[in-house]
Amino acid sequence: MLSAAESADGFGGFGLHPALLQAVTDSKYCHPSPVQAQAIPLLLQGRDLIAQAQTGTGKTAAFALPCLHNLEADQHLPQVLVLTPTRELALQVAKSFERYGAHMPRLRVLPIYGGSGFRPQIQGLRRGAQIVVGTPGRVMDHMRQGTLNLSGLRSLVLDEADEMLRMGFIDDVTWILERTAQERQLVLFSATMPPEVRQLSGRFLHDPAEVTIATSKADTQRIHQWLLMVHASQKRQALIQVLEAEASEATMIFVRTKQATVEVAAELSSHAYRCAALSGDVIQSQREQVIERLRSGQLDVVVATDVAARGIDVERITLVVNYDPPLDAEAYIHRIGRTGRAGRQGQALLLATPRERRQVQAIERVTGQRLEVMELPDTAMVNDRRRQRFKERILSALDGADVPLFAQLVKELSAENNLPAEHIAAALAQLMQGTQPFELSHQDHLPRPSSRRQSRPVAANMERYRIEVGWKHKVKPGNIVGALANQAGIKGQSIGRIHIFDEHSTVDLPRNMPDDLFATLRNLRVVSQPLRIRKLEGSAV
Ligand code: ADP
Ligand code: MG
Repeated sequence: MLSAAESADGFGGFGLHPALLQAVTDSKYCHPSPVQAQAIPLLLQGRDLIAQAQTGTGKTAAFALPCLHNLEADQHLPQVLVLTPTRELALQVAKSFERYGAHMPRLRVLPIYGGSGFRPQIQGLRRGAQIVVGTPGRVMDHMRQGTLNLSGLRSLVLDEADEMLRMGFIDDVTWILERTAQERQLVLFSATMPPEVRQLSGRFLHDPAEVTIATSKADTQRIHQWLLMVHASQKRQALIQVLEAEASEATMIFVRTKQATVEVAAELSSHAYRCAALSGDVIQSQREQVIERLRSGQLDVVVATDVAARGIDVERITLVVNYDPPLDAEAYIHRIGRTGRAGRQGQALLLATPRERRQVQAIERVTGQRLEVMELPDTAMVNDRRRQRFKERILSALDGADVPLFAQLVKELSAENNLPAEHIAAALAQLMQGTQPFELSHQDHLPRPSSRRQSRPVAANMERYRIEVGWKHKVKPGNIVGALANQAGIKGQSIGRIHIFDEHSTVDLPRNMPDDLFATLRNLRVVSQPLRIRKLEGSAV
């Protein structure tokens, strides 16, 4: 970590107000991010700007710092208006302004958004908010009823412009832009640059500077992207198995509908996850609470719709699950951008059914990256984690427990019935567990979809063999390849497709296998099961 004097140094070259440099130091930012390095000088000059950079690259400070620097301290009409696509983002951006402006005396920042009362917002505006951050609808309401006076406006920022337009705010945004003075500085920030954003900028920006930060390899590599193919009916079970096996700090799960947020959250709660649903149906004050609780570690999982989760910046999120696939590849980028914040590592998982293959390909095209295929965590792994979580839950419950009282009760029970304390603890654990089985059994473990149907055809010059080892024996493709390669000396690249079924598997091997090799294979064991390999009739092409 750099010292305070050094750390402000990276930002020192911009000529920002010392109060802002102090806040940057407080935030422990050492160097401006690329989008900040390029955008801040242009914005300080008063240029209109269109800037594109991935999520999590520090776009908020890129516009907030210069806007704060350019404020006229004794002007009390709003000087900066930031439009955001959602209420959560409005709040978050308003908080960032407060943070970066913490050392500026008498700074007033006001978030205004729908779903919360007009009166406090009107009072806040009357008191002289210099910076207003709001959603388009509510900003229009205030403009129409004359409670938001934009005659002193110096800068207007569209944050997450792409989202705003994708969410259908184009008319609202246009309406607002048409009613602000031409001289104001106009700034567009966006993670992606769809044609609608280009059109808007072509129409309203004056001689704009343009900043495009190419997604660096490091950025995309910070988020490890996985793909898990499942059938629709198996998604819930697959989700639980994944969550149980992944030791994620906090998880954000994306679903398509409001209804699904509630259903999936209920399912996870029944598996003892500290979980909440987030959608447009949840009232505003609760939505804020949910994000706060996720941030502070009181919640571990939030199940959200795209709209409700946009722009959320919670560093603890280490896993994003696309439970339902996103509507398009851009939505995917926004979703996975909820993890890997501020240079941290993150994981993203896409659950897709065989019918959704094309969406997967579209995502891979846009991100320029192949998704790595994830194997469903095996039963042993899930059960290990269950044991571990069981112990953690009990230890954490000890903190708040009335130990003297309950210890006394257990003692009495033990003495009266001549029962060892472990048995009493076991009965309590069973009560806590309810009727759900504690351990995942092999039968419950999902087979992969490819193992149920649609095993793919045998390639030319290969033959398909059956081996008597399957999911039931916890076999993984690696075990089979390992045995064939190491014990029978078959080269890895000549081992073809492997399909694992519940009780057996198939493996494709080169045609015309020599008899002595076949004899060796017949005697092989994998995960302690005799393979009893035999050729499947009519398998050759
Ligand atoms: P974006 O709007 O591009 O998605 P944010 O503005 O929300 O990104 O910033 C993402 C995270 O990075 C925030 O937690 C923010 O505090 C942090 N951050 C911003 N600028 C810097 C910087 N120069 N150095 C370190 N962290 C930063
Ligand atoms: Mg942002």
